[in-house]
Amino acid sequence: MKVAIPALETSPPESQPSCAEPQRCAHVRVFPGAIAANWGVIARLAGPAQTGAAIKADAYGHGLSAAAMALARAGCRQFFVASLAEGVAARRALGAGPSIWVLNGLAGARPEALCAAALSPVLNSLDDIALWAGAGAWALHLDTGMNRLGLPMTDWAQAAQQAHGFMPVLVMSHLACADISGAPMNAAQHARFREGAALFPQALRSLVGSAGMALGPLYHQDLVRPGLALYGHWGSDQALPALTPAMAVSAPILQIRAVQEGDSVGYGASYRCIKPALLATIGIGYADGFLRSMSNRGYGALDGVICPIRGRVSMDLTILDVTAAGPRARCGTMVEILGPHLSAAELALLSETIPYEVMTSFGAAAASAGGRIIA
Ligand SMILES: *Cc1c(COP(=O)(O)O)cnc(C)c1O
Repeated sequence: MKVAIPALETSPPESQPSCAEPQRCAHVRVFPGAIAANWGVIARLAGPAQTGAAIKADAYGHGLSAAAMALARAGCRQFFVASLAEGVAARRALGAGPSIWVLNGLAGARPEALCAAALSPVLNSLDDIALWAGAGAWALHLDTGMNRLGLPMTDWAQAAQQAHGFMPVLVMSHLACADISGAPMNAAQHARFREGAALFPQALRSLVGSAGMALGPLYHQDLVRPGLALYGHWGSDQALPALTPAMAVSAPILQIRAVQEGDSVGYGASYRCIKPALLATIGIGYADGFLRSMSNRGYGALDGVICPIRGRVSMDLTILDVTAAGPRARCGTMVEILGPHLSAAELALLSETIPYEVMTSFGAAAASAGGRIIA
């Protein structure tokens, strides 16, 4: 996704070859103001619990620095990243002050590497607790049944003994089924977490991210750690206050053609026209993070008119039936791919994935191709 317009987060190379004439191309736009506003909505719902922010995976594709700075301005003081590298980038953006928790723990890094950027690990094993040995503030992840990261139940008592004298500042766990409010596993994990957290009575407690907010104040504990909701979606089956999406994607029409009944469209001729139609080829494909599973299923929106995808999404091109849009379909017109008419949740349903993957796909492709537009 070549983005050759100003106001990018990353500036283009200084001396560009003469062939780098600006061209119409797909855009990923990010709205840090929406991220800040969403944090405020979550913080009001969570209160009196504190509200942190998960900004791992480049802030879910929105750009770590811009998101971190907007959240800090909104009042956030607790940030969660996955890795040391993300933590270093977050510290650079945030400056001294806010806590930055590294969810993957030490993961082979020396404690000094984290200390150098004033990062705090979320530790997952007795070995790493011994290695850290009070090098600074740390968190303990208790595995209460997800079997992903975290200290197994059988090690909890020993951790409490071992950490005597350098107790964790934060104990946390993570729910496997927070998006299904009636899932019995939520209550089971909550009960196990209570038991484990009691071994570390002075530590702050944290159990849920975005979807878990819907399970009620009992689950909010001392600190909630939303990610998805910051970017505009609760990811829960429950009704919660409205949030504002923080990413929009659009792509230009590159060519328009009229087709007849019986004509085929795209690779594999996987779509065959059942009546005459106007097709538009737009400049976005799976290399831009537009999932190929949208082939023959998804839509674009032209001035709010829904235009179905015909045939397969290819590497940098996708074909839409723009018949319904009539004269609004012209070469150069930008088509909405993600935005007011097509949410990440809808795209996720259509492509059989989750809004998280929709966002990180678009965001990662845009970041590696030259940047997102910060609105
Ligand atoms: C990513 C993550 C979160 C945030 O989850 P969302 O569903 O995006 O709100 C919270 N806690 C942990 C441990 C995570 O890995």
